[in-house]
Amino acid sequence: MTAFGTQFAPEMALATFDGQQWSTPSVVPSDSISLHPGAHVLHYASTCFEGLKVFSHADGSKHVFRMDQNITRMVQSSRLISLPAFKENMLSGMILDIVGRYKDLVPAPPGTMYLRPTHIGTEAAIGKAAAPSAQSMLYVLASPVGDYFASGDTTLRLLIDEQGMRCAPHMGMVKSGGNYASALQVLNKARAEHQADQVLFCPDGDVQETAAANFILIDGNELITKPLDTSFLHGVTRASILTLAADMGMIVSERDLSVAELIERSANGDAEAALSGTAAVLTPVGTLIYNGKEHTVGTGKPGAKTIQLRKALNDIQFGVAEDRHGWLTSV
Ligand SMILES: *Cc1c(COP(=O)(O)O)cnc(C)c1O
Repeated sequence: MTAFGTQFAPEMALATFDGQQWSTPSVVPSDSISLHPGAHVLHYASTCFEGLKVFSHADGSKHVFRMDQNITRMVQSSRLISLPAFKENMLSGMILDIVGRYKDLVPAPPGTMYLRPTHIGTEAAIGKAAAPSAQSMLYVLASPVGDYFASGDTTLRLLIDEQGMRCAPHMGMVKSGGNYASALQVLNKARAEHQADQVLFCPDGDVQETAAANFILIDGNELITKPLDTSFLHGVTRASILTLAADMGMIVSERDLSVAELIERSANGDAEAALSGTAAVLTPVGTLIYNGKEHTVGTGKPGAKTIQLRKALNDIQFGVAEDRHGWLTSV
């Protein structure tokens, strides 16, 4: 299997904003775009993106998961990063158009088609360090993918970082390129020095999230995760897992969690921790590395509730369980 996100459908959906209006979306080859070297995005990181998936059901039908949520978030990201506004129905039309054309490339379960809507500032204006790009380009890439973390019984090792932060506090809820670049140095160091898989960013002891996934703690029948604020990315998977946990009768506590409480509760035999995201789905965390010491979460193995929640979500996505919340759009 090729690495996640390196294979693409031969075409993508594309629309451009010329400063006045959006072009009619079209379908174009996906192997290149033409950009002026002075394009705003290349200098001042005027970019945001989305990640969502298309699932194949047993009857051969294809379904996009919670497309409306991703589109709303992308409109919001574009606004917060001062990129030109666009209508939600333009992007949904582009998504459905490209998926419709390349339905046959949606892999069989557990594979999926990952979609990457991307919005970039294209104005050739290196003098606009302190002004938005007047022009932009919006496109939707489609990438057939396998299981992102096909790790079987293994769990992740997370380094707890209280010193730095993933990104500027007001940028946390924007799915924007610069945030990921800003986390890389910390992540590389954590990998080299602690054999960590990810860094859990906890500025001043406040448990937030990793570079690209939300964090949840499960202790007995309670699920704890940070309440929505501007400091972190509001995951669609996070929201879906909270809904499914409530459906299962769990107590869902959206509240701030300190590193001290996390370390203390992780020692409970039935504690579980997991990362949630479109790519990660729900990936179990087995070890927390804090101040040079390793703390096993619960048994250190994938937790029963984590497995149950992940399965409940996957069953809806792949059409094995009823879509009671109306999360799927058939293509
Ligand atoms: C995309 C992303 C997530 C997960 O969001 P989903 O909508 O669940 O895919 C969480 N944190 C960050 C920083 C992200 O970029």
